[in-house]
Amino acid sequence: MTDSFADLLAANRTYAAEEFTHGGFDGIAHAGVAVVTCMDSRIDPLRMLGLRPGDAKIFRNPGGRVTEQALEALVLGVHLLNVRRVLVVPHTRCAMTANSEAELQRRIGESAGQDASWHAFHVIEDQRSALAQDVRKVRSHPLIPDDISVGGFVYDVDTGLLEQVV
Ligand SMILES: [Zn+2]
Repeated sequence: MTDSFADLLAANRTYAAEEFTHGGFDGIAHAGVAVVTCMDSRIDPLRMLGLRPGDAKIFRNPGGRVTEQALEALVLGVHLLNVRRVLVVPHTRCAMTANSEAELQRRIGESAGQDASWHAFHVIEDQRSALAQDVRKVRSHPLIPDDISVGGFVYDVDTGLLEQVV
């Protein structure tokens, strides 16, 4: 093992000693909320909604897309983990909307020093129509009941505000 993680593990020990209060807590979503959002480091999914650990299920991927795995998470959340409201939240200035597939493959190929054109990154050409499509995927899923509220929002990384789109 290397010490690549030493600073993080030290911070974790401080966290466990000084801040952590969730021991023995269950894993359900206490606020009944699930969020599908981007992996972007500018997004703090709990705090932007006034939530705390224990309140929500969070699923993240590049772009905040409703993928097969996101649907798996949402079905589990709805049926086993108390989820009643689902927010799909892509954001402004997302790298997945700023590059074409070829451009992303070229940049990653340059960084990797080898061809990356075989790898799909699922760039988003039209964020709002992709969002509408993603919300539709959740709403129309046979295992997501009709009484679950599903909304599509864009998070503005420069103001911290959410705008409901669908
Ligand atoms: Zn993003």
